[in-house]
Amino acid sequence: MTHVITQRCCNDAACVPVCPVNCIHPRPDEPGYLGTEMLYIDPDSCIDCGACVSVCPVSAIAADEDLEPEQEVFEDLNAAYFELPGHRDYEQSPKPVFPRTATESRDRPLRVAIVGSGPAGCYVAQDLLAERALDVRIDIFERLPVPGGLVRFGVAPDHYETKDVQRGFDKIFRNNRVRLLLDVEIGTDISHDQLAEAYDAVVYAYGAQHGRLPGIPGDGLPGSHAGLEFVAWYNGHPDYADLTFDLSGERAVIIGNGNVALDIARILAADPETLARTDIAEHALQALRESAIREICVLARRGPDDAAFTVPELIGLRESDDYRVRIEPKGLLDQLPDPAEARPGLRRHLEEIEADTASADRSIVLRFFATPRELVGGDAVEGLRIDQRMPEGEIWEEVIETPLVISAIGYQGHGLPTLPVEVRGGVLPTDGARVLDPERDAALDGVYAVGWIKRGPSGVIGTNKYDARDVVGAILEDWRGDRLSCEDDPDAVTSTLTEAIDHQGWLRLDRHEKKAGREQKRPRSKVVSLDEMRRIAGDRP
Ligand code: NAP
Repeated sequence: MTHVITQRCCNDAACVPVCPVNCIHPRPDEPGYLGTEMLYIDPDSCIDCGACVSVCPVSAIAADEDLEPEQEVFEDLNAAYFELPGHRDYEQSPKPVFPRTATESRDRPLRVAIVGSGPAGCYVAQDLLAERALDVRIDIFERLPVPGGLVRFGVAPDHYETKDVQRGFDKIFRNNRVRLLLDVEIGTDISHDQLAEAYDAVVYAYGAQHGRLPGIPGDGLPGSHAGLEFVAWYNGHPDYADLTFDLSGERAVIIGNGNVALDIARILAADPETLARTDIAEHALQALRESAIREICVLARRGPDDAAFTVPELIGLRESDDYRVRIEPKGLLDQLPDPAEARPGLRRHLEEIEADTASADRSIVLRFFATPRELVGGDAVEGLRIDQRMPEGEIWEEVIETPLVISAIGYQGHGLPTLPVEVRGGVLPTDGARVLDPERDAALDGVYAVGWIKRGPSGVIGTNKYDARDVVGAILEDWRGDRLSCEDDPDAVTSTLTEAIDHQGWLRLDRHEKKAGREQKRPRSKVVSLDEMRRIAGDRP
């Protein structure tokens, strides 16, 4: 018997340090960690103690005998990782992975402001609180009246178990050394300078909140949307709740084939009654119930071996009976040489998809080697012109007819008013974890960045934990080196924020949403209007 990591793995790596035989890889201190699609358990070393099961925040680990039928493929996938060259060259002895840094005692607590309540910010708070010798006070600021960031507004509703990671973050909010200040916008309600004066350290963790369009002719036409808009819409983000998408055609096209593209494809292809059991926003559910879309074409400019989606998500895509997955152009895999660098399970699952000829009312088409050239149409999108290349050299041009093109080609960060730093290439300029002062080309004292606003939109939720460790290391180094100071007291700033929603307010809203969800046999029914959120959180009639 062995334990197996399955599709929900979020790379949080909480399982790694508790494994007594060091059989979970890649570890955060190994070179492959940052780029890995998931973590894997070596079946040859696992002693089946189950220590990893209880610490996994998203319940992704199970004993092989307890795997659900659709999870059994992960047994081979875990084993396959260790068959790759060098992957079994590890010491079978436990090593600490997230070493704690001792801090000398000071006459006052370290005061930290974190801007953004998503995974990146929460991991920073969690790591600071884990420093046993450190007296720390943390204020977490969030622009919206609800915490969670990407967990609430990015993770797809049909991946509800992934949202279990939020339970660990909720524990942080309950800690009496932490204050939650929701509905507070930096640059409007409070400035960067005010934060810098009141806190020793200010950590920017506000993510990448803009979608990207491909920059081809016609991509501004109605019917062309950035993936971020669609994701935020179905997840009930208040800024996107009023958007409308043309779901009246038989086909939708998604540009890009990363995990966001697969999320969008699943939501468009799923039976709405399946989605009705999730926390999808009510307005999106109603629109999807009326959708005429039967084919979702997921378009990639590169080939199958370079697919941007991860293998666990490809496996997840195949789990549903609501639709069928196909690969185009037909017979493509036969034309491809063996990939130079194998990704465990990728070819096998693509080949199984290609061999599957079952029919279904709805389908998701994974189309490769297709470069988008132009969105065509008069007043609105009517189609997407592409160049289709084949590995053996053939090229043709084609217009894929559709009224809906969603570009899932990545997210971009933006600057914040009053933060004296310009975003470059969608991220804040940094030196390690420290934000750079553009004037001096040197680090701004006590200002740090973490997560997507620092490294760009890459990795999964747990990748931010690794990033957070760097930030906390830098903060502690600066604190011990006497390089951090603050002139004001945080209360001088927070007392001016009379409209801010605190943890109690969030709990009221959380209970309201869960109760409404229970009545509809759903995990949660999200409130999407800002006014309604404020009313419920503020306990106002
Ligand atoms: P991504 O993984 O970077 O994929 C972007 C896709 O867009 C790629 O296929 C890329 O193609 C394509 N692309 C970029 N620019 C393009 C252009 N100008 N024209 C045509 N295609 C273009 O981005 P993402 O899907 O937004 O995901 C962001 C991060 O979130 C990833 O790390 C992802 O794994 C993570 N995520 C994880 C989950 C999950 O674990 N369940 C869910 C959602 C997101 P090329 O490859 O050719 O550049």
